[in-house]
Amino acid sequence: MELQESLGVYKEIALKHLSEARSFVNERCKGIESCHLIALTFGATLLLVWVYEFIFQADSLRSRCKKQFFKILRKLPFIGTQIQTQLNKALEDMSERMLNLKDGMSYMKALPPLGLKQEQVMEKLKRYSSIGEVSWETGKVSGTVYSGDQKLTQLLVKVYGEFAWSNPLHPDIFPGVRKMEAEVVRMTCTLFNGGPGTCGTVTSGGTESILMACKAYRDLAFERGIKHPEILAPVSVHAAFDKAAHYFGMKIVHIPLDKTMQVDVKAMKRAISKNTAMLVCSAPQFPHGIIDPIEEVAKLALTYRLPFHVDACLGGFLIVFMEKAGFPLKPFDFRVKGVTSISADTHKYGYAPKGSSVILYSDKKYRHYQFFVAPDWQGGIYASPAIAGSRPGGIIAGCWATMMHMGEDGYIEATKKIIKTARSIIAELQKIKDILIFGKPDVSVIALGSKSFDIYHLSNALTAKGWNLNTLQFPSSIHICLTLLHTKPGVAQQFVKDVKESVAVIMKNPRAKTTGLGAIYGMAQAIPDRSMVTEISQAFLDCLYSTEDPSSSKQINGSHGYH
Ligand SMILES: *Cc1c(COP(=O)(O)O)cnc(C)c1O
Repeated sequence: MELQESLGVYKEIALKHLSEARSFVNERCKGIESCHLIALTFGATLLLVWVYEFIFQADSLRSRCKKQFFKILRKLPFIGTQIQTQLNKALEDMSERMLNLKDGMSYMKALPPLGLKQEQVMEKLKRYSSIGEVSWETGKVSGTVYSGDQKLTQLLVKVYGEFAWSNPLHPDIFPGVRKMEAEVVRMTCTLFNGGPGTCGTVTSGGTESILMACKAYRDLAFERGIKHPEILAPVSVHAAFDKAAHYFGMKIVHIPLDKTMQVDVKAMKRAISKNTAMLVCSAPQFPHGIIDPIEEVAKLALTYRLPFHVDACLGGFLIVFMEKAGFPLKPFDFRVKGVTSISADTHKYGYAPKGSSVILYSDKKYRHYQFFVAPDWQGGIYASPAIAGSRPGGIIAGCWATMMHMGEDGYIEATKKIIKTARSIIAELQKIKDILIFGKPDVSVIALGSKSFDIYHLSNALTAKGWNLNTLQFPSSIHICLTLLHTKPGVAQQFVKDVKESVAVIMKNPRAKTTGLGAIYGMAQAIPDRSMVTEISQAFLDCLYSTEDPSSSKQINGSHGYH
């Protein structure tokens, strides 16, 4: 309805302008025929501009029409209420599942009137750390905790204590933190074979690193006269690029993959237009752990003079050590001409504490587009490198300390262990009939699917055996992301054994209906109205901030207002 209405309004405005212009021109040049022609041309141009602006928006015309269709559908009396009932049920299930607290625990809703003694705080804290039911320490969780080493934990606690109050926003007061950040960036540049001209910044995580690269290339595109900058990225690229497009008013164009789950370079070439602001590849991508064809895409970037970002957030601190660990890869870093930026997460396989990542550029000219300066602020000339203002110096110190402690030898050793484990698991899984591995996993992620049964069955079965894997969609699949915790004796063997046993059980009745969480994922994929999935997800996020005591959990749904 809104669409129709706004369409009408715009048309009216356009027509009004048109007739005004016409009468204006007519007045001026009465009797001169060419003026009619000019007026007509003028009007037609106005209309063309309007039509162009209407069609070419960040959200495609097709997607906008689809959204409008479902909006109307949900307002229809019978179908609408049915959809709503289903939706409310899904929401209720979810909040019940999530808000399950341990007996006797309740929420704090205001400050304790009298501050607690340190021992009391610690006592309470112990209870909080014991709420969880999934134990990552045993190596049954995919990704999430990349090291977990006790000795490293002890070091990090000490380092944080030393720099707990520091803030790199004040380099004059904390020159040591400044030096550490600069060194983290330089060491990472060196790992990615960047020369002295390469540079970068430390950020709060992979997402911020990616946001910064997209923001830099958007501003570069603006400078080149591109009004509607586009990100060309594989469909397998991390959602942080969608987030960047959303935040920065860019359009993301998703490029399909070929059978090996690498981006289709020909399709990427076809998608390049005058609006293209940047090309993206992953090394490796999150869903299936495959490295995109970096060298081929770099050639495109050079030919069309486009910035080219390599997202190595996940595996950056593995791939740079793979050659020395005995698993050589094709070049993926600054050795490849055309690569202008790389994101790599220190808080994943860099084993640093959460809250740190690095964004690197091949040249300072790109980094300048990332910086923000407010030269006229009353509070002083304000210059900041990335999104945050104040930043935790303790985390930067922790990141620096981890890199220093690991050293090249430590990282090579860790990489060797993880890749060896991955390769042995792949070899074993390939022997299992009825499941398949997506592409040829290069690094530490192994994605599984099946042509014989719904793969979410397997995810449920493994959950029952204490595993916690990642659920993927389009196509249905699950993956395990191997960390140092999976390299402990027996973990890999246990995983293979559990997969084997589960598949054998499932194959006794492969057509059985999927239940539980697996069913929800299967269903969510089948819902054509993606706004509904968004709505459920928003309710999920609301749940994260719920402080309603479990006994009154029924009321929460009521107060959401989904009726
Ligand atoms: C984890 C990841 C990111 C984003 O990292 P966050 O630290 O979670 O913000 C980006 N790209 C890939 C491929 C990742 O796996």
